[in-house]
Amino acid sequence: MYRPAIKHCRECGAHVSYRLPDDGDTKTRAICTQCHTVHYENPLNVVGTVPYWGERGEQVLLCKRNIEPRWGKWTLPAGFMELGETTEHGAWRETQEEAGADIEIDGLYTLLNVVRVGQVHLFYKARLKSTHFSPGYETQEARLFTEDQIPWDDLAFRTVRQTLEHYFRDLKRGRFGFHVNDID
Ligand SMILES: [Zn+2]
Repeated sequence: MYRPAIKHCRECGAHVSYRLPDDGDTKTRAICTQCHTVHYENPLNVVGTVPYWGERGEQVLLCKRNIEPRWGKWTLPAGFMELGETTEHGAWRETQEEAGADIEIDGLYTLLNVVRVGQVHLFYKARLKSTHFSPGYETQEARLFTEDQIPWDDLAFRTVRQTLEHYFRDLKRGRFGFHVNDID
């Protein structure tokens, strides 16, 4: 399982068991053995940015992770969306928290379905307003990279690699589209 199985009921604290509900639902659910509450589990959104710098946007900001998983690997600023915020605000917030970077968001750039782990990753293109970064505790180092400098073998996540590949391909073409991919 990509996410720890539910063990206890959120309503009453009793044990749950995974089984088909009695209402015709075709998926196995965590169901409370006492109060019979059905606990539905759905994909989570990960939101982030591609912060770029330079006349043509030839440099991109990456963060070296100071937390598990993938400690010491490089990533675009991104994290789980919080309740009460929009995807765009979540992307902006993660960029503040992980890089301390001042950005202006352009628009949605990639949407990546990571079905195996039950996640949808959304990256926004974002113009950096300065090259002053003050990363938070989650980040060891935040710095700009040109395509040649990108640590391709030390990227934290496949969605980051995919997004960067799109970015530098679009940069060469001189035209940025919106990209949707399914990552297995
Ligand atoms: Zn219960």
